[in-house]
Amino acid sequence: MSRNRTIIYAIYFLFKREGQTLNPAPLRFPNFMLVIIATNIVIIFEKKRLHKKKLLRRFVLTKQTNMTKKEKTNRLNALVGSLSAPSKMPCSGYNIPAQECKIGSILRKIKDSTCSSCYALKGRYLFSNVKDAMYRRFEAIKKNYWVDSMVEQIKLNNKGDKRYFRWHDSGDVQSLEHIDKIVSIAEQLPEVKHWLPTREFKLFEEYINLHGVGKIPSNLTVRYSSHMNDRISNKALNKTYSSMVISSEDKIKEIDTPIKVCPATLPDSNHKCNDCRACWHFKGTIAYLKH
Ligand code: SF4
Repeated sequence: MSRNRTIIYAIYFLFKREGQTLNPAPLRFPNFMLVIIATNIVIIFEKKRLHKKKLLRRFVLTKQTNMTKKEKTNRLNALVGSLSAPSKMPCSGYNIPAQECKIGSILRKIKDSTCSSCYALKGRYLFSNVKDAMYRRFEAIKKNYWVDSMVEQIKLNNKGDKRYFRWHDSGDVQSLEHIDKIVSIAEQLPEVKHWLPTREFKLFEEYINLHGVGKIPSNLTVRYSSHMNDRISNKALNKTYSSMVISSEDKIKEIDTPIKVCPATLPDSNHKCNDCRACWHFKGTIAYLKH
């Protein structure tokens, strides 16, 4: 049924009384109000539909070869948001609000948890423009066009060492569908090594139970972040790739597992990754020194 016809039917039934055909004469004030409300609801839905259509059109246009990089970038930014530029990283990233982390929002209230002093809930991450942009990305991840648009966005706008990409310098995976979409993006970009840190162990376990561990492509490093400072979560310990936060370098002496202290967190470093790509490649635990 077309939308216009739906509007006409809606108005018809509001005017109609039992056993009568359309007759506007008995229209009373409450009915008149209902007609206005119904019309406004239809207008809101129609606006949303047109907005979606416009976004999809923008996406189709990004596939056009005669567009400049700037035009494509503007369209991709409108669809999925721009890529982030985490200060120490050698490449771009993608962030969503840390306020929406599922496990993180529980951990944040626990003393000495790795989320209790989350950097993504401080400083510039709280600027309204930054927060709004992260929430636009948060909405975008639910859209059908997100995967294809992200593939284009990473191809076009990943800055620095384009062989690497970092997921979620703020935020974490939200659902099985979200994981599946990231897997699909990594599959479509085999030349890029993706690093995805996560505290959502259960969600990943569920995903692997459903699809098998082979579903995670070899160019996607899912690194399990331990929940408490100075401790490796058992779940993380059992995975090939994990990470932890340490309050001092001495703490790693107590840990009997392959471990590498992140050089960018050492006091005498320039707090940049420089040539290190351990987060993507190191089989074992990366220990980030808390500062
Ligand atoms: S371990 Fe290496 S790649 Fe990871 S954050 Fe530290 S410096 Fe960067």
